[in-house]
Amino acid sequence: MLTIAVSKGRIYEEALPLLAEAGITPVDDPKTCRKLILQTTRDDVQLVIIRATDVPTFVEYGAADLGIAGKDVLLEHGAESLYEPLDLNIACCRLMTAAHKDAPEISGRIRVATKYVKTAQRYFASKGIQAEIIKLYGSMELAPLVGLADCIVDLVDTGNTLKANGLEPRDLIMNISSRLVVNKAAMKMKHEAIASLLAQFEQTLAQR
Ligand code: AMP
Repeated sequence: MLTIAVSKGRIYEEALPLLAEAGITPVDDPKTCRKLILQTTRDDVQLVIIRATDVPTFVEYGAADLGIAGKDVLLEHGAESLYEPLDLNIACCRLMTAAHKDAPEISGRIRVATKYVKTAQRYFASKGIQAEIIKLYGSMELAPLVGLADCIVDLVDTGNTLKANGLEPRDLIMNISSRLVVNKAAMKMKHEAIASLLAQFEQTLAQR
């Protein structure tokens, strides 16, 4: 049996067609069913649909053999403990800094609100900018509006969320897409099954 951990929401929705090409279609819909483990049309594959930030943890500890997670989450988790063999090219967006549209360019010591604490620390250090990072778990856009931070680091897709809150994207930190990650021990112990799944995904991606 192979267990694949998939990030809830946008990534799950965009992963469904890719999984379907490999014959993997969940038997239940996680939106309407409260099951945490989803059986699929393949007897040898089950899915666990979990919070994005938990996917690398499940895979690292072998609770899932494979995972589908955003590069943003993998960067923040630290990816050394996992194999990351495939860029699935889904749920594409950008990790960016953003600030109030009327705020001056970043200079001096700044306060940054984000859920990507380590990634933001690394980014501002690489730019030689002194940044105090404030960890938030959601609604980052609010922080500059209420004076909690000078800017935020967050994912931007259409830019509509920023715009609706009077913010604008500033600097691109990294282009983001979802990646397939694999538990290191599973890669050895279940090599045949995992290699065949990887080959199926690769073939589908090449045809896109
Ligand atoms: P948008 O308004 O289209 O720029 O989307 C921005 C909002 O959607 C922010 O709250 C982001 O955190 C979230 N978001 C955008 N793209 C993704 C993605 N690929 N995965 C997860 N969240 C995303």
